[in-house]
Amino acid sequence: MIAMSNPSLSVVIPVYNEEEGLQALFDRLYPALDALHVPYEAIFINDGSTDRSVSLLRGQFEKRPDTTRVILLNGNYGQHMAIMAGFEQARGNRVVTLDADLQNPPEEIGKLLAAMDAGHDYVGTVRQNRQDNAWRRWASRLMNRLRERITHIHMTDQGCMLRAYDRKIVRAIASCREVNTFIPALAYTFAAHPTEVAVRHEERAAGESKYSLYSLVRLNFDLVTGFSVFPLQLFSLLGMVLSLLSGLFVVYLFIRRLVVGPEAEGLFTLFAITFFLISILLFGIGLLGEYVGRIYQQVRDRPRFLIEAILEAPRESRQDA
Ligand code: UDP
Ligand code: MG
Repeated sequence: MIAMSNPSLSVVIPVYNEEEGLQALFDRLYPALDALHVPYEAIFINDGSTDRSVSLLRGQFEKRPDTTRVILLNGNYGQHMAIMAGFEQARGNRVVTLDADLQNPPEEIGKLLAAMDAGHDYVGTVRQNRQDNAWRRWASRLMNRLRERITHIHMTDQGCMLRAYDRKIVRAIASCREVNTFIPALAYTFAAHPTEVAVRHEERAAGESKYSLYSLVRLNFDLVTGFSVFPLQLFSLLGMVLSLLSGLFVVYLFIRRLVVGPEAEGLFTLFAITFFLISILLFGIGLLGEYVGRIYQQVRDRPRFLIEAILEAPRESRQDA
């Protein structure tokens, strides 16, 4: 009935060890998409799961081969690279990204499409009554604000992956060769008429969050260093101010030595100042490392991910499927 050869909607879903929640996702996703009455394809990208996710995806593909495509990556490349793989394969005029854990209800996709009908090429989302713990909410609010300051990318809620993109933006994103990137932010830099809508947010249906505190910190570093060189510039500014101040201090100490004579007191003040300067130095080196690391990854120019197999119906049979 609904042919997949030229779907108007592609739904891209990264999957990493989601065996507990996948069935529930299938049970809600397909009815929700059927209800939209547009030709669609659901693209699942297995991001190197080590559990039964692959066989569940395979089963779903066999059940709905007309509207299901499964991309199997050969390893774990992270959520954003998995989405990137999906973007490269997506055929729809509009592409919606969705998490596999049902935290963003698939029934809300219609709302995003309505915003696109109104002329927007990128629809972000804001989670209403977010179902994460207080610490997680607080941390992401803080990071949001900092990121917005530094990168001038306006996203009220950077953590919500339920988003809709026009085909043009998806093509532009897929052509970016960046390795550690953050797709919603990248999309924002290409969008001409972005907007945001509010969507419901639910507790993770099953399984655990794949993000540890460490990977959240990493993600935010990538977000800032990937979209702005301001931290680097801030550093040279800081370096200038500090060297000026310490220069003045040396002059002061020198004059004092001439006027008052030698003295051993105030040693700890000196220590304090030294430690302070050393800590700034260390942070600066670390910051340089962030950028050098990005440059390194970029110049190696390795493939960003390897596709092991794609499960999809052959094109001919899809024409009149
Ligand atoms: N994910 C992925 N690769 C990873 C980590 C996560 O494909 O290395 C997928 C995961 O299966 C889920 C989505 O990315 O569909 C978001 O992950 P999660 O729900 O753990 O993140 P959170 O909602 O806690 O931010
Ligand atoms: Mg989640």
